Formats: sequence, C-alpha cells, structure tokens
Amino acid sequence: MTTRPPLPASPAPALASRGPSRVLVLAVALVATLILASPAAAAPAPSRLADDHTSFFADGPLAGSGWSACRAITWSVDVRGLPDDRRRAEVRRFAAAMDSWASAAGLDVDFTGRERLDYDARAYLLRPNGPPRERHVYVSFLTPRQAPLLAPPVVGLGNPSRVIAETREITAGVVVFRSGFVAAAGRREPDRVRHLYLHEIGHALGLGHAESTANIMHPAIGTRTSLGPGDRAGIRSLVQACPGTAQ
Ligand SMILES: [Zn+2]
Repeated sequence: MTTRPPLPASPAPALASRGPSRVLVLAVALVATLILASPAAAAPAPSRLADDHTSFFADGPLAGSGWSACRAITWSVDVRGLPDDRRRAEVRRFAAAMDSWASAAGLDVDFTGRERLDYDARAYLLRPNGPPRERHVYVSFLTPRQAPLLAPPVVGLGNPSRVIAETREITAGVVVFRSGFVAAAGRREPDRVRHLYLHEIGHALGLGHAESTANIMHPAIGTRTSLGPGDRAGIRSLVQACPGTAQ
C-alpha cells in the first residue's frame, strides 16, 4: 500500500449554469479523491471528533449544500468493470454502505438496479442511456484509462454533480472506483473496500474531508467499516429537513 499525504490536488471547480430558468442548477465538476494509505495518527478526544467534518464545497456559495429529506434518493450501478464473480458481492457491499449513511442522515435510499453508464472524464459525470435521473447517484467501476483521476494511488472519486444554487439542494451525485483495486481488495481486504465505499458516498452526499482517521471522511483509506462521530454529525448538518414534517 502506498503512504501519501492526504488529498492530491483537485481540479479547480468549474461551475456552469444549465437547466431550468426557474432555478439555477449547477453542474459540479469538482472532485475529491481517496488514496491508499496506512492510517497511523492518534484520534483526538471524542468531543472534538463530532466537530470533525466539512462541506464538500468548503467555502463559497455552495458551502453547506445537502440532499433534501423530502423524497428517497435512488442509485444505480454499472458493474461491467468488475469480474463476473465479484459483481453481486460488491453491489451488496455498496448497498450496505448506502444504508449506513441513510440511517445516519434520516434519508430513504432505493436501489434502481444495474445499468450501462458512460463516464465523461472532462465533466466527472456518469451518463445513462437516456435522460439523467433526478435525486439519483450513479456508480461505476472504471480503469484509470477510462477515468484518468483514478490513477494510483487514487482508488475512488465521489462528488455531488448537480446543486440547485438557490436552495443549495444537491440533486445528483457520482461515485466511481478503480475497478482493479476493488476486484483485488474485495476478496483479500474487504474492510478497505467497505471504507472506500462509505467515503465516496459521503462526498456524493455533500461532505468534504475530515482531519481524524476516526472518521470515514479522512482522505486516506484505512479499514474503518462504520461512520465516526464527525461523519454522523456532518451528514445531519447537511441534510435539508422536508418542510412541514417533524424531524
Ligand atoms: Zn475524499
């Protein structure tokens, strides 16, 4: 495994207006990467850990953007990058990671199935064969050739892909993984893959990086398989309560 300092340089945010005139919808081309590393740092006190979270949009007009709790989030996956005998297990593992975030966040999450998705490496987007779904997270397993940002040591990318600027509501997300890493580690180091899935979903849900390895959102992959105090506090702070419902 490679040991590197956290967070390789990310491409600059490129926000383009696109979509209905009533609300400004931004296509988000800002990615955060997860790298392979050996976690070593000691965790700070538990009381500090709950504050250990950031918005994906660290500052600026989209800071604090999150998904709305009004409707279920759906997700679909393209598993063609995985060997046949790993596909089912990885979909199940990814679904478990989604469920962890959903219960921490008070969100409903539904799997819509497998589908073919094409990766647009310039826009960091997965495109379905048809109009893109709203309130949906697209997931795929790709090679560095298909997604150059997945070159070693990066093993995953996750980001919100559409945000309504007016309300700072995230309405779409993209998550991609280096297929070769998942194919190998899925069998030999399953906890690393679980950590990876949780981390990238966290980005798609609007979280940035955390400082402590006690939180999933720390930018180096370890073997954490559950959300930390900062992850939970962070996602609760981002999710937008549905107007008119008791929270
Ligand atoms: Zn990350």
